[in-house]
Amino acid sequence: MFKKILVANRGEIALRIQRACRELGVKAVMVYSEADREAKYVKLAEEAVCIGPAPSPQSYLNMPAIISAAEVTDAEAIHPGYGFLSENADFAERVEKSGFQFIGPTPENIRTMGDKVSAKQAMIKAGVPCVPGSEGELPDDPVIIRRTAKAVGYPVIIKAAGGGGGRGMRVVHTEAALINAVQMTKAEAGAAFGNPAVYMEKFLQNPRHIEIQILCDKHKNGVYLWERDCSMQRRHQKVIEEAPAPGIPRKLIEKIGERCVAACKKIGYRGAGTFEFLYEGGEFYFIEMNTRVQVEHPVTELITGIDIVKTQIMVAAGEKLPFAQRDIALRGHAIECRVNAEDPYKFVPSPGRVTTWHAPGGPGVRVDSHIYTNYFVPPNYDSMIGKIIVHGDTREQALARMRTALLETVIEGINTNIPLHRELMVDAKFMAGGTNIHYLEEWLSRHK
Ligand code: ADP
Repeated sequence: MFKKILVANRGEIALRIQRACRELGVKAVMVYSEADREAKYVKLAEEAVCIGPAPSPQSYLNMPAIISAAEVTDAEAIHPGYGFLSENADFAERVEKSGFQFIGPTPENIRTMGDKVSAKQAMIKAGVPCVPGSEGELPDDPVIIRRTAKAVGYPVIIKAAGGGGGRGMRVVHTEAALINAVQMTKAEAGAAFGNPAVYMEKFLQNPRHIEIQILCDKHKNGVYLWERDCSMQRRHQKVIEEAPAPGIPRKLIEKIGERCVAACKKIGYRGAGTFEFLYEGGEFYFIEMNTRVQVEHPVTELITGIDIVKTQIMVAAGEKLPFAQRDIALRGHAIECRVNAEDPYKFVPSPGRVTTWHAPGGPGVRVDSHIYTNYFVPPNYDSMIGKIIVHGDTREQALARMRTALLETVIEGINTNIPLHRELMVDAKFMAGGTNIHYLEEWLSRHK
């Protein structure tokens, strides 16, 4: 096992990784920008290194600063968390070339999966079903683009090959709007992701977002930790996640889970990863793979009893997975609400000083958050300030526990989306389970 690792992230995931390190008896070096000097995990750290000013290009995206921090502290490995450099193949490569272990898959695997076009091609090869669409990148020729859309069938969605975080996507309903939409998405993708390549998919009308969590070691062992339902989204961004997915036959999950593990073995995948699918009419369609730990990993941890972050570190150190597929439990039901510092209905970010923070508690309640009373939420980063996660024997019990947890939560000084979560937890359709990816947006437009 490593003696010391460097945590190259901030916020709740930095704290989550620090906690996993403590349990493993591994020293964690925390890095921080000037805006995060007062963060809880920095104050609690045995060692912490300032890596630059508040803007992330100069700190959390600053590869030389992060690698130097690992060098001066004698860390052996780097955990990238999620976001920032976590899916940057060049970073993973530089980390390994500098003599550190990158806690994640190989740079080659990150590169393949980071380009959604090559990811889809790899998955088709590995026998994983994909959303029908263009075979690879769209060319410039409008005649071919129109022909492709006609063959796929309207509506279609134009997506950036290098896209992420719900950005770089455009739905097209008619041929008249097609060429302009492709050009606009290309321009945006070039500016935002440094890669103008786009591809086309059939726009599915009422799918659910179902994803499979996998864990692999360096010894060709791999397991799937069931599924998560992340259909409650706004602007293609997840708001509420749960596990297991209500109403999907176990047999179907097992079948797709086995496919995912087989695909991992085929590409020599190691570490944690997530296969994201759209699920419609009893069929799964692959959309992308995330080669890192995800925000919503706790719901899987609660139903399986497996610590995903600890396991990431263990397999990076070369240990074998301590469980086989038949050992993976599925106990009860878990739900996660993402807590964002924003106006609950207008979604305007609301950074600033937290004057009161009272966290919920009680049976089956877990809070992953780095905030505290008097903490200042910096305006420079993502608005998520934590997650409330509950577990129950049944979905009904989990829902009841989440309602209580949200009722108990007090955050003053800034706006948060807690009031929205409170309403959604008593919404009849959400309570029934199985809402599709458009449900939350429709709900929001009705409740304006
Ligand atoms: P990102 O990497 O930006 O998260 P994804 O490819 O994972 O992008 O897609 C994010 C979300 O966008 C999905 O969960 C779904 O809500 C929507 N989406 C993506 N592709 C399609 C599609 N072909 N049809 C309908 N919705 C889609």
